[in-house]
Amino acid sequence: MTLPATIVGAVVTLTPTTVHNWTRCRRLYLLRNVLTLPQVDDTPWSDEGLKIHDLLRIVHEEGSCADRGLVGDVVDRYGGTDADRVRGFLDRHAARCPQGAVALGHEVDCVRFHREPMPKFLASARIDAAWVHDGTLDARDYKTGSPWGDLADDVRARVQAWVLAPLARERGLTLRLRYEYLAPEAGDDPPPFDPDPETLEGIEEELRSIADAMRAERAFAGVADAAICRTCPYRSICVDAQADLEGTAAGP
Ligand code: SF4
Ligand SMILES: [Zn+2]
Repeated sequence: MTLPATIVGAVVTLTPTTVHNWTRCRRLYLLRNVLTLPQVDDTPWSDEGLKIHDLLRIVHEEGSCADRGLVGDVVDRYGGTDADRVRGFLDRHAARCPQGAVALGHEVDCVRFHREPMPKFLASARIDAAWVHDGTLDARDYKTGSPWGDLADDVRARVQAWVLAPLARERGLTLRLRYEYLAPEAGDDPPPFDPDPETLEGIEEELRSIADAMRAERAFAGVADAAICRTCPYRSICVDAQADLEGTAAGP
């Protein structure tokens, strides 16, 4: 597949998901993030994640997740038929939530622009909760799958950290990023990511070179890797998909 030079645009837009897709498969990035094709095949990412995010937002808007009565009330109202499992997610969150911290916001959207050296790019990221305590901007993402690995090595966390860094710096705070794995069967969270200025500079250069490669890309070849293709939302229409795909794999 060959596409015109302008397909990605003069200013590349980066998000944790677009960069993650880019690193997994150029074709996936093209279909999902450049052409924005609707999803064709089911993926393992369940509705459960959206529900847990919504319930945590409601709990924090109405009070504290440490308030057992409030949590029970929210679960009764919105937990549905799997209320016990939902309560397990919220209990794991309450054990991780920095009680007494000041909430900077929930579902916080941030953007950061890189101008020079070329190419320009605009990065954006959403964080589920941003807390301030002990001189730290403690940014949290809620996860309902299984731990993937160290955040320092996860390109999605690296994008989030780079985008959030000015928010911390402007307030004289140290940035910390943490993923809360809330499924009762998920085990321990990975260690938090505390990027220092040198690390953030390295991430900026990493993103700049990704943006450069995105602008230069023409072929958008498929990765043809069963481990990646089996959860791809375009596997039934992609000529590079692995042939032995049946159903979907468990989520990450
Ligand atoms: S099916 Fe595989 S090769 Fe095709 S876009 Fe998806 S991940 Fe890439
Ligand atoms: Zn909380």
